Amino acid sequence: MKLCFATNNQHKLDEVKRAIGESVQLLSLKDIGCSEELPETRDTLEGNSLQKAEYVFANYGVACFADDSGLEVDILQGAPGVYSARYAGNHRSDEDNISLLLSNLENASNRTARFRTVITLIGISQEPVFFDGIVKGHITTEKRGTSGFGYDPVFVPEGLDLTFAEMSIAEKNRLSHRGLAVEELKTYLKSLALKREK
Ligand code: IMP
Repeated sequence: MKLCFATNNQHKLDEVKRAIGESVQLLSLKDIGCSEELPETRDTLEGNSLQKAEYVFANYGVACFADDSGLEVDILQGAPGVYSARYAGNHRSDEDNISLLLSNLENASNRTARFRTVITLIGISQEPVFFDGIVKGHITTEKRGTSGFGYDPVFVPEGLDLTFAEMSIAEKNRLSHRGLAVEELKTYLKSLALKREK
C-alpha cells in the first residue's frame, strides 16, 4: 500500500519511515510533487492534523496521513501545546523555543510534561480516521544530547534518565507519542488488510 506522510519535517519522516514497517510504501511530500507549506491554522492538534491531511488529499488525490504534535507542560497549564513550533515567536528556532521554556521553568520544582500526537488518515476509509499517542515525562534543567529535533534535548520520558535527544531513532520510536500513534495506525491498516482477505 502507498501512503503519503504529509510533513515537511525530515526528522519526522525519518522516524516514521523506521516505525511504519514494510507493508506500507511511504511517500514524502516531495515524492508527490508537493513543495508548498501545508496550512496549519487551527487551534487544536486534531484540527491541524486534519487540515494538513485534507489539504494534501484534496490537492494531490493521494491517500495520506498527517500528524500534529505538541509539548504540554503541567505547570504552564498545557503550554506550549499546539503552539510548540512557534513558542518563542514565528520563525524562531528550536534553540529559541527551548531557551524560553527553560527560562519559564527556571524555579519550577514540578517539571512534569507530556508530548501528544494526533495522526489523521485520509483516503483509505470513507471518513478521516484519527490516532493518538501520548508520552509522559519531565523537562530537564539543561539540554542533553544531539539527536532528534524540537524539544528532544530537554524531554526525559517517565521511568528513564535519557532525553529523547540521547536516544537512537528506534529507541525514541518505541516510547514516543509519534511512535505510539504510528503503532495504532499500523494496527488499523492491518485490520483493514485482514478484512479484505476474508
Ligand atoms: P508539529 O506541528 O507537529 O510539527 O510539531 C510542533 C512542534 O512540537 C515542533 O516544531 C517541535 O517543536 C515540537 N515537537 C513535536 N514532536 C516532537 C518530538 O518528537 N520531539 C521534540 N519536539 C517535538
